[in-house]
Amino acid sequence: MEKKQFETQCVHEGQLKDTLYKGAISPLYMATAYSYEETDRYPRYFNTPNQVGLAKKIAALEGAEAGLIFGSGMAAISTALLAFLKKGDHVVLQNDLYGGTTNLVVEHFENYGIEYAFAQGLEAEDFEAKIQENTKVIYVETPSNPLMKLIDLAAIARLAKKHDLVSMIDNTFASPVNQNPIAFGIDVVLHSATKYLGGHSDILAGAAACSAAHMEKIFAVAKSLGGNLSELSIWLLERSIKTLSIRVKQQNENALALAHYLESHSAVEKVHYPGLPSHPDHALAKKQMRGYTGMMSFELKANVLRTTFEKALALIQPVVSLAGVESTITIPAITSHKLLSPAARAEQGITDQMVRFSVGIEHLDDLKNDLNQALTQATHEG
Ligand SMILES: *Cc1c(COP(=O)(O)O)cnc(C)c1O
Repeated sequence: MEKKQFETQCVHEGQLKDTLYKGAISPLYMATAYSYEETDRYPRYFNTPNQVGLAKKIAALEGAEAGLIFGSGMAAISTALLAFLKKGDHVVLQNDLYGGTTNLVVEHFENYGIEYAFAQGLEAEDFEAKIQENTKVIYVETPSNPLMKLIDLAAIARLAKKHDLVSMIDNTFASPVNQNPIAFGIDVVLHSATKYLGGHSDILAGAAACSAAHMEKIFAVAKSLGGNLSELSIWLLERSIKTLSIRVKQQNENALALAHYLESHSAVEKVHYPGLPSHPDHALAKKQMRGYTGMMSFELKANVLRTTFEKALALIQPVVSLAGVESTITIPAITSHKLLSPAARAEQGITDQMVRFSVGIEHLDDLKNDLNQALTQATHEG
């Protein structure tokens, strides 16, 4: 079949043929036991029909040769890192990663004899400054959480090639709709499929996409670590991804409009969204992203009571996770970044007045109205 456009791939790529009944969608094969006369097919070998089909879809959406589906984003991330790092190796990481990734590195890598360093800033030179003789992997996440800072993917890919390193990215926040890192030379793309790929706040899953050669290494570790996703969730995730493109495009559109709206609102101090010309990485965003995502953060003015604002929201829900079709907020200071000291938070630019906003697919006017009434209720005059 000739290569199809992204939107078409979301719907059709990797779909299994129902040869028995001619149904229009992938049949679900729940078997964990297959005849040994034919193959060594077994779910933990990632080779059941539904796993193989969905892995093809993810690979196509990322422009990769190969894909693999995992039981969570952290299963994908930990497996990929351990596939390329052994005792005595060293990895250079971005300094404001997803909390779970940071925990994996700082709490466990020493036990495995793996050395690590966090880059001081987000420029390629900041990463290069930390590279040493035993460095094997460079690991980034862009846009970052919650400040939506960007990393120059082409520059990181060049740096990795120059020093013969494997470059990895957590592409969760952008989703393949907005950003395909492999096109910029990044080696391994990782996803928490719990977020945009799933998109309905009801599936925990992860994914990896890369060259066939790199995937061989990841697979070798993956089948031993056993972080698979159940067949039923795989089938549901395939269904979810059929609407990935239209969901995320609507989220992009709503978020851009709301970022402008909030930036001009008298109760809002600052908005962090790469689609805004005021964002320091706006030019880079235009270069490496097709859309600016449904994620942003904003800071309430000092005379706005944050807790009142949170409680006053009627449509937008306070939750820990993100990227569902429903709009949600979270407060980084009391959730994702609560383990940091107030000083460390301040150093990262995370204030107590900061709200992270995951924009859904509701009507723009309803979202504006909800934000406006909550901001008005929470504002104290004088
Ligand atoms: C949620 C998230 C993860 C972890 O994914 P799980 O599916 O919860 O394991 C990793 N990276 C980013 C950016 C995330 O938002």
